[in-house]
Amino acid sequence: MTPRSDPRLRLLILGGTADASRLAAAVAAEPRIDAVLSFAGRTETPKLPSIPARIGGFGGVAGLIDYLRAERIARVVDATHPFAAQMSRNAVEACAAVGVALLALERAPWQAQSGDRWIEVDNLPAAAVALGAEPRRVFLGIGRQNLDLFAVAQQHAYLVRLVDPPRGPLPLTQVDVVVARGPFDRASDRALLASHRIDIVVAKNAGGDAAVAKIEAARDLGLPVVMVRRPQILPRPTVASVADVMDWLAHDSSPTERGV
Ligand code: NAP
Repeated sequence: MTPRSDPRLRLLILGGTADASRLAAAVAAEPRIDAVLSFAGRTETPKLPSIPARIGGFGGVAGLIDYLRAERIARVVDATHPFAAQMSRNAVEACAAVGVALLALERAPWQAQSGDRWIEVDNLPAAAVALGAEPRRVFLGIGRQNLDLFAVAQQHAYLVRLVDPPRGPLPLTQVDVVVARGPFDRASDRALLASHRIDIVVAKNAGGDAAVAKIEAARDLGLPVVMVRRPQILPRPTVASVADVMDWLAHDSSPTERGV
């Protein structure tokens, strides 16, 4: 805990994304900011930042409120993945309850370009259905947590990319695993999709550049993409770049007052 006499700005960054790591590096260079980066603990070997880190859930809205109070957090930046909706909702509620200013760092969603063959769906169960009845060779670029949702579609052969090697059997019968950590590049992803003879890609619409390579690779190869739309999160002030967050941190007013 930071001593009460410490005049630095106490900042909590909710992380788990490349943007959160970039923001952590930027605030590390600011002596007036005393920041902590929070990870959910899903990745076995998270890339630790140059600022203090904490790992694990807070215990819902009540737990986050306790944390904000105990650590005398003055600002929160939600730099979680756009699909980490629960954490983002908790942050909106907890920050409102204790009067702590909250800003979300979130990239705009990817947009289909002319020639793209996107099938847009609202959630992962709908993505499993959208793959169709005919057996296909599917690249699942969705992480480990929701693979079981594709167990209803075992007619397909899957290629799954994971940050950590799987600890046990996956819920898919025909599955190859590639273990790799982003950011990824377009040429490598094109080679990966081609070498596994992938004919359709499933992706969450994360936006930003850290995970876009698979979308560009699918574009290059003329492959269809089942694109999962983002979940709804309560309205909150949002910016799209680390520079905009740093600007917000440099000012006293809340982003709402400043029209962010
Ligand atoms: P989620 O469903 O929104 O969160 C579930 C619970 O995990 C939260 O209620 C919270 O537990 C805990 N949690 C999530 N993010 C946390 C953080 N940064 N620090 C501390 N606790 C956190 O989130 P998720 O979709 O499981 O994602 C988990 C993490 O992976 C997030 O940090 C996210 O940025 C990252 N990530 C997610 C995706 C994705 O597609 N969902 C992709 C890439 C990275 P308590 O209620 O106990 O506080």
